[in-house]
Amino acid sequence: MFVLLFGPPGSGKGTQALALAERLGVPHVATGDIFRKHLREGTELGRRVRAYMDRGALVPDLVTCDLVGSRLSEPDAARGVLFDGFPRSVPQLYWLIGHLGASARTLAAVVNLQVPDDAILARITGRRTCTNCGATYHTVSAPPLPDGSCSRCGAAVVQRKDDVEDVVRDRLVAYGAQTFPCLAELRDRLPVHDLSGEGGIDEVQRRIFASLAL
Ligand code: ADP
Ligand code: ADP
Ligand code: ZN
Repeated sequence: MFVLLFGPPGSGKGTQALALAERLGVPHVATGDIFRKHLREGTELGRRVRAYMDRGALVPDLVTCDLVGSRLSEPDAARGVLFDGFPRSVPQLYWLIGHLGASARTLAAVVNLQVPDDAILARITGRRTCTNCGATYHTVSAPPLPDGSCSRCGAAVVQRKDDVEDVVRDRLVAYGAQTFPCLAELRDRLPVHDLSGEGGIDEVQRRIFASLAL
């Protein structure tokens, strides 16, 4: 089952994706997490995408689709994946439909998390991210351990370079201009569950599970 998790930056996709992927029994594929791993490891791909990510712009479609194509060819992705942050543009969406179509695999559903811009800014400027496992925290609502380390793996937890207000605003503009139009295209093809991403993390999780009858 291929499920897409949509929503603006900071809407809670990464937070919700872990439990949802586990329940669906498919891997969680977050393009942002994969790009950040390349940045950390200083790979050739990391060097190509850094400037886009730092300024809150989308990485070019060809680079992104290539990356997703190779991830989908891994054996654990054969039965489906939970996409988080992909597709993020209409060309990426059409690439995905074409790519899955060729292998007779299809998209099952979209979960679209809706959170107003002011709440997003508060969430994302307080976000802290583990440098090792990618777990996310929040200075107020979900703090890391008192010594500032990750409660899952013990590594250091830091603020992402693109989680500062100026860059967040640019990311929200990119979301509206490039990602949001995907939703209209998707509505013609499969169930799109528009859910409020506000309220507690557990409450949002219950909403998501209920919408997918899990
Ligand atoms: P968030 O979780 O806040 O929405 P992500 O971790 O998903 O942020 O993405 C961080 C950055 O990585 C984006 O601003 C963009 O530069 C790049 N990125 C991630 N996914 C994509 C994608 N599907 N297409 C293009 N760029 C992407
Ligand atoms: P995304 O992957 O969509 O960019 P995240 O899952 O990383 O978003 O969440 C962004 C920030 O908001 C993180 O600091 C996270 O701890 C916090 N957060 C996530 N869900 C909620 C929620 N329901 N209520 C309050 N804060 C939340
Ligand atoms: Zn960690």
